[in-house]
Amino acid sequence: MILDGNPVAERVLAEVRAGVARVRERHGVAPTLAVLLLGNDPASGLYVRSKKRMAASVGITSPDYVYPEGLDRAALLDLIDRLNADRTVHGILPQLPLPKGIDEDEVIARIAPEKDVDGIHPVNMGRLLGGQPAVLPCTPSGCMEILDHYGAKLEGAEAVMIGRSRIVGKPLAQLLLARHATVTMCHTRTRDLADHTRRADVLCVAVGRAGLVTADMVKPGAWVVDVGNTRLPSGQWVGDVDFPGVSHVAHVTPVPGGVGPMTRAMLLRNTVLAAERQLGGGLR
Ligand code: NAD
Repeated sequence: MILDGNPVAERVLAEVRAGVARVRERHGVAPTLAVLLLGNDPASGLYVRSKKRMAASVGITSPDYVYPEGLDRAALLDLIDRLNADRTVHGILPQLPLPKGIDEDEVIARIAPEKDVDGIHPVNMGRLLGGQPAVLPCTPSGCMEILDHYGAKLEGAEAVMIGRSRIVGKPLAQLLLARHATVTMCHTRTRDLADHTRRADVLCVAVGRAGLVTADMVKPGAWVVDVGNTRLPSGQWVGDVDFPGVSHVAHVTPVPGGVGPMTRAMLLRNTVLAAERQLGGGLR
């Protein structure tokens, strides 16, 4: 089975549209996501435009804070303080990576946890680890939505996570653990990667190396979620999984069209949830 992310994202976006309507009706405002873009990295510019387009399509307002020349530390922290205090702003999204020389950890920690729609503030990460309700990082929660949508059984499953980044690998492993999977984390120092992956009923890959996972490394019938995103010299975007080979033996997300649309949808969902929490009267 091809685990197409688009219908899953559409379902989430329908919920988001309903949430936006609810916020408008109850509070007379639109959920608002402040998007910060520092520097002039073309890929970051592209990501920001695509997030803004998607936000607009569901009725979320996304004012820009664009500084092609960058901002010094004091000005950036001051901007975050102002957005934290601004009651018309419900989410703050600094496009990562921030330009060299800026301490990303300091910037993230400065954002009010309830406005951290990326779910990477230390408080939200800590809540996730503690099993308390938290703002969940968008890509990992999007992966979970895909697995649930297509009916993967997680309880008691052997789950293998390749990659241990703060934004994907670590939180996704926690989400799988919270659903009672037996989770193994693999990374650059893992001795025999295939030895682990072949046991996996659920295999999640977030590395950024095209073709890392081949069909011989995958258990037949496994659920494979490919987060990787690499642009080949030909211009084609591919994941970490050898899709043509692995799709013959396992259920797998395509790249593009798998996890990518989910990440954007979950960001908008987090924005609506943040608005409802801050304005009161929301679902959660
Ligand atoms: P990262 O680049 O911060 O880290 C990569 C991880 O992979 C590290 O933890 C490292 O230990 C591990 N790794 C590297 N080589 C390995 C190997 N040979 N064997 C086993 N493990 C290895 O990771 P990231 O920020 O999570 O990004 C990973 C990939 O996912 C990238 O391609 C990125 O573009 C993509 N990504 C996609 C989305 C999306 O929405 N589709 C979102 C976030 C990241």
